[in-house]
Amino acid sequence: MGGRAVVVGGGIGGLAAALGLRAAGWEVTVLERSAALPATGTGLGIWPAALRALDTLGVGAEVRRAGRPQAGGAFRRPDGSRIATLDVDRLARRHGEPVHLVTRPVLLAVLAGALPADVVRFGAPVADPGALVEAYDLVVGADGINSTVRAALHGDRYPLRYAGTVAWRGVADVEVAEGGETWGRGRKFGLTPAGPGRTNWYAAVARPEGRPAPADDRAELRRLFGDWHEPIPRLLDALDPAGILRHEVRDLTPLPSYVSGRVALLGDAAHAMTPDLGQGACQALIDAVALADCLRDADDPAAALRAYDRRRRRPAQRIAAGARWAGRLSQARRLLPARDALLRLALAAGPPG
Ligand SMILES: Cc1cc2nc3c(=O)[nH]c(=O)nc-3n(C[C@H](O)[C@H](O)[C@H](O)COP(=O)(O)OP(=O)(O)OC[C@H]3O[C@@H](n4cnc5c(N)ncnc54)[C@H](O)[C@@H]3O)c2cc1C
Repeated sequence: MGGRAVVVGGGIGGLAAALGLRAAGWEVTVLERSAALPATGTGLGIWPAALRALDTLGVGAEVRRAGRPQAGGAFRRPDGSRIATLDVDRLARRHGEPVHLVTRPVLLAVLAGALPADVVRFGAPVADPGALVEAYDLVVGADGINSTVRAALHGDRYPLRYAGTVAWRGVADVEVAEGGETWGRGRKFGLTPAGPGRTNWYAAVARPEGRPAPADDRAELRRLFGDWHEPIPRLLDALDPAGILRHEVRDLTPLPSYVSGRVALLGDAAHAMTPDLGQGACQALIDAVALADCLRDADDPAAALRAYDRRRRRPAQRIAAGARWAGRLSQARRLLPARDALLRLALAAGPPG
């Protein structure tokens, strides 16, 4: 049938939903609270299933061109010894192509660039989703982990849960030969090459919730990781303190439904997950394509949304549970040989692709 849709949030999921819904015959407005698209941001791994979603939206080739295939890497211990190898060739054989790394601003720019200029209204924060339900035939909540639309549907019955770790991340002006993760006792450090002279990095440390922030993040990172294998100390020395981001990691209590009447949730608003599998943005893209597909030629939007919920809720919640499990595994402080064996098994079983 088509109709007038409003998407709350112009992030990855919201822009993808706008593209998909327009192709399915809907007139779409995106309301984004930020004044503009972000100019900076770290890299995202886009898995093959999400690349196929981008193909459906007509921007897969451009994202592949703007990104780069993930190179091989290793899981190591703090002394540099190898726990497991990340076999990207096997991954590519299994899923048809490699994971692609692309920065968040580039992915957002590609998605936004495929939309007519008047679709996204920047500087438009939504405080009352109820008013939108009156004005539009369809409301899509793509407003991220602290979703206002989710709160309007569910109140505080399904809160965010602390996942047990504090995470730091950023981009450093150093070049590393190989990416990968290093797992120590209750903490890990990850590196991803991001082009000539640049490396994405992240660190996660098991900590009780609500600990005061360290006065100096770089000094804290040096204290925690400064005696780990190279190139970690070299990268820490090169960090610009102003570019270090820190947050407590949370995920969302599983929701009993992603839809209510003519309102649908997608992406982090529906299933915010820990970053341990690198799948949050991928699932948001897959949600967007599924939502548009269910709404194409739908006479009854509410029935189409129920079909979207049936299609997406279980798979996305399974991946969120997997991410939480992977995060817990990397927080282990004891039985590290058993943990390493579990990690090898999980890698051999492979990700959802
Ligand atoms: C450290 C880290 C690494 C990650 N790595 C990966 C990775 O490698 N691969 C991967 O797939 N995923 C990764 N993720 C997850 C990924 O970033 C998120 O899952 C993804 O951004 C979710 O997209 P979204 O569109 O649902 O939400 P968001 O990206 O949060 O977008 C929500 C948008 O809504 C806007 N908004 C919020 N509230 C309102 C409001 N009231 N009114 C109007 N606008 C509003 C916000 O400004 C924002 O633009 C990572 C996350 C982290 C933290």
